Amino acid sequence: MITDAPPRKANQRAGFLESDRIKTLDLPQDGRLLTCAKSIEAAMKVETGVDVRRACADFLAVTSESYKTTTCGVRVLAARPLRVRENWTTELFGDYTPETMLIRLWMRTAVRKEFTSFGTFLSTLCHEFCHHLDYQKFGFHDSWHTRGFYERTAALYHHARGTPPKKLFWVPTSGERWRIDWPRTNRTTPPVG
Ligand SMILES: [Zn+2]
Repeated sequence: MITDAPPRKANQRAGFLESDRIKTLDLPQDGRLLTCAKSIEAAMKVETGVDVRRACADFLAVTSESYKTTTCGVRVLAARPLRVRENWTTELFGDYTPETMLIRLWMRTAVRKEFTSFGTFLSTLCHEFCHHLDYQKFGFHDSWHTRGFYERTAALYHHARGTPPKKLFWVPTSGERWRIDWPRTNRTTPPVG
């Protein structure tokens, strides 16, 4: 995972820096997302797009209610469409269009047609929903991939999956960007509780 470079324009930069700073997300105080995530996993096992879509819609109904945002739509596609927004290069398994508030997820990769694993699929769903939150909860004019964005996404993902959150370690890279130091992140024992 690598962050976007900060925008050049000063007025956009302020929003970017704020997104970078917000490293936590209030999480729903019940187990509903865990239940929804298990339904997605079960639906993926039998590979029916209709059931996967319904389970994702249930998931998004809970998150939208929790964060008091408009519910965003979701479409589950068999394979990645050939034409995707080229500037969002990190979106390998899904995308989000702010104008229509629609998340698209695909169950297979574009080239090799391999099935997306449940973990990747759920992580993508959380990622795309966090784009929705950026516009609808935080009121940003754009939804950048900042360190804060990835931290918020990870918090939601681990909550939904029922796994302990990891502390993410970042290292600076070219163009004022950051990337996750995975060896260090994975080596660190997760905090208890
Ligand atoms: Zn993204």
